[in-house]
Amino acid sequence: MTISAPVNKIIPFSNVDGPSNRMAIFFQGCQFNCRFCHNPETINMCSNCGDCVKTCPVKALSLEDGKVVWNRSICVNCDTCIKICRHNASPKITWMTADDLLKEIEKVRPYIEGITLSGGECTLRRDLIVELFPKVKAMGLTTLLDSNGSLDFEKDPEILGYCDGVMLDVKAAGKEFSDWLIRYPNEVILKNLEYLLKVNKLYEVRTIIFPDRDKDNEETVTYVARIIQDRCFYKIIRYRQFGVRDEQRDVLGDFTTDEEYAQGYVKLARSLGADKAYLI
Ligand code: SF4
Ligand code: SF4
Repeated sequence: MTISAPVNKIIPFSNVDGPSNRMAIFFQGCQFNCRFCHNPETINMCSNCGDCVKTCPVKALSLEDGKVVWNRSICVNCDTCIKICRHNASPKITWMTADDLLKEIEKVRPYIEGITLSGGECTLRRDLIVELFPKVKAMGLTTLLDSNGSLDFEKDPEILGYCDGVMLDVKAAGKEFSDWLIRYPNEVILKNLEYLLKVNKLYEVRTIIFPDRDKDNEETVTYVARIIQDRCFYKIIRYRQFGVRDEQRDVLGDFTTDEEYAQGYVKLARSLGADKAYLI
């Protein structure tokens, strides 16, 4: 059976999704429901409710046999459909096989160092990844996963076989904070933090610093820094309100974390041995 996966977006040249110039491929679908999600339209699969179809100004959406069909060639990317969707979904999805993706990669191959698979949550598409990555490595490119850490990598070593590294989100070390923030258990994420380090596949860890949450921020940064030390990058990210759903902005704050406040957590991480901590 040919494996395919729903692709939300492909950025042919990205310099923020890992080292050097990379193609970033974003899959649709994530089992978390993070309060601060900046791309909530990537969380769920479209339920074909049809609400967005009539709102498209250029009639790029239609309902055929009860399914929403997107005409990419006339879409003007105004994102009206995304704004109207109440299901955290997007109608602008393309199902692609590994061969489809390889054709896209081939177009830019001389200009990139590698590819990064992101989401949504890319590891929900592990069967496609296992097929794709060896072929990408054979092209002389590097392979990274940008993951929420939900897949137990120790139980699925095949996915790491042709993977150069994982960029792992550790959003909350405390169980209560994690349950509230990402609405998903964090045990496997924390286990992955140690396992990926052990097998030398941890490229980077990312933690978001929220305004006025001293205890939670400190707990997570301390936890991560003590484990990773200087063995991988630690990207400390200021919470930014842009793209966050309105009801969650009311909870988390409708403003960006103060830079000086966030810089304090970089200092904390470095003081604990995480010398490669930096702020964005
Ligand atoms: S994208 Fe959203 S609004 Fe449009 S059909 Fe799918 S679920 Fe409905
Ligand atoms: S983003 Fe494209 S499909 Fe969606 S409403 Fe705008 S033109 Fe239509």
